[in-house]
Amino acid sequence: MSAESSKSNPPLQALLPINFLIIGGGIAGLACALALRRVGHRVTVLERTDKVTARGDGGVRLPPNLTKILFHWGLKDILMKKASITKRLIFMRYETGERLGEHVWDEEMLKETRGVFMMLTHSELYDILYDAATGLGAQVRYNANAVELDPAEELVRLDTGEELSADVLIGADGGFGVCRAAILGNGVRGKGTGLAVYDTIVPSSSLPEYAEEIREWHGQFVAFGNRHAIVAYPIHGIEDIAFQFYAPDNEHEGKYGSNPTVDVLSVVDGISPQLAVVAKVARKAVRVSIQEHPDLEDWVHPHGRLVIIGEAAHPFPPSTIQGTAMAIEDGAVLAKLFSHLSEERQIESFLYAFQELRQERANTVRHGEFASVMYMTADGERATTRDENMRRKAAAGRNVLDGERDCDAASKWEEYRVIFGYDCEDEADDWWVQWGMLRERALDRESIHASSVPSLLDLYPMMSSVQVTSTDGE
Ligand SMILES: Cc1cc2nc3c(=O)[nH]c(=O)nc-3n(C[C@H](O)[C@H](O)[C@H](O)COP(=O)(O)OP(=O)(O)OC[C@H]3O[C@@H](n4cnc5c(N)ncnc54)[C@H](O)[C@@H]3O)c2cc1C
Repeated sequence: MSAESSKSNPPLQALLPINFLIIGGGIAGLACALALRRVGHRVTVLERTDKVTARGDGGVRLPPNLTKILFHWGLKDILMKKASITKRLIFMRYETGERLGEHVWDEEMLKETRGVFMMLTHSELYDILYDAATGLGAQVRYNANAVELDPAEELVRLDTGEELSADVLIGADGGFGVCRAAILGNGVRGKGTGLAVYDTIVPSSSLPEYAEEIREWHGQFVAFGNRHAIVAYPIHGIEDIAFQFYAPDNEHEGKYGSNPTVDVLSVVDGISPQLAVVAKVARKAVRVSIQEHPDLEDWVHPHGRLVIIGEAAHPFPPSTIQGTAMAIEDGAVLAKLFSHLSEERQIESFLYAFQELRQERANTVRHGEFASVMYMTADGERATTRDENMRRKAAAGRNVLDGERDCDAASKWEEYRVIFGYDCEDEADDWWVQWGMLRERALDRESIHASSVPSLLDLYPMMSSVQVTSTDGE
């Protein structure tokens, strides 16, 4: 029997279905809409752009902690049709093309995670989520640009002047949107790192030698350079290869959704002749600046039912393994919590429970991904040690991310193991059993012993210190 996740029990339906308005119809917004519809809530998604513009051509990686959720949601068959499964990572040097070693995913570990590691395009994932969410009755409105929010009244104003309201507002409008700004107070800019990802695609037919290798590898390759790196993996089966070039960036302004205007050859200083072949045939790339953001203290608005999810809550460096996964985990957890909704008074406690459950996980993973970008683009002694460790393990026939605890690579692999194994829906179920039900039972006894009821503040002490965070430097 396959160890991959395939729970197919129908999800619990909320006793009190309510209206959710999701601002932002990207991956986080659509996944959240799907998850909430699955448990019986009514959902409208507002997306600023049209449907074509909201989808990207670039590659997206779906790690096992994400695929297991999508499998729970009944999307396994369609994913198996659209996505490739990766089985290994190949590492090389950017400047010389020297192969440093490889890491074959451990079958046992993957079985434990109950997921697989998949690769497809942003637009393919988008369409899968859109079809599933609208198939279950979610309303998605395109060209609906939210320009103003009133969280206290749960009200959204569009640029047309139209006003919409709901029981709960969900901000899924990305790292630069109005919802993050509403929580922060103002100013949503991150701090530039001087690096960007230049995201592009290369048809395999332009690179016959790589196409053959990639077919054989079943994998992704990573090239480490001095303030440069490349991450590449097959998409559209193996018809195309997604290439993400990490390189210096003087503009700090690029984002996904911008026009692909960058000639890759102009950013690949010092690249090896073998890899330069790729840069020559690559399509123009989208520049996505890598910015550093502090962790947000609050994801829930202090004066109203507005909660932020996905990039709006925790902006990841672009094209990392876990950015998309964390955005979808958010929707999965929110829906699990709201599947227990039976009375209106529970709404605030579920929003704070969501924050409590998600913040540590998303922040830890986000810091790890940021560190991975620095690891790939490191120079000097750190890079020399990393490469020597890999060469030594490869020469011994070992997986290069396995091994000693005293080096970066070993701890990286342990990190992956924990992150991939996490089941966010189980965590939400555990919260309900340990905290949510306890509070409900206590409330049932209220008429007998009113003083024994744990208050919301007992459960979420952080609510007493909610304040609008200063945005200086953000
Ligand atoms: C067009 C596009 C292409 C992308 N391509 C890739 C890719 O190829 N590879 C990759 O790894 N990642 C890509 N990403 C990023 C990826 O989607 C995110 O990193 C991650 O999956 C989480 O997304 P999110 O939904 O939280 O935020 P985002 O992906 O930023 O989505 C936010 C959505 O909110 C909408 N929005 C913003 N403001 C408003 C408003 N005021 N009113 C209504 N709607 C609003 C935006 O138009 C956008 O569709 C892309 C993002 C976009 C928007």
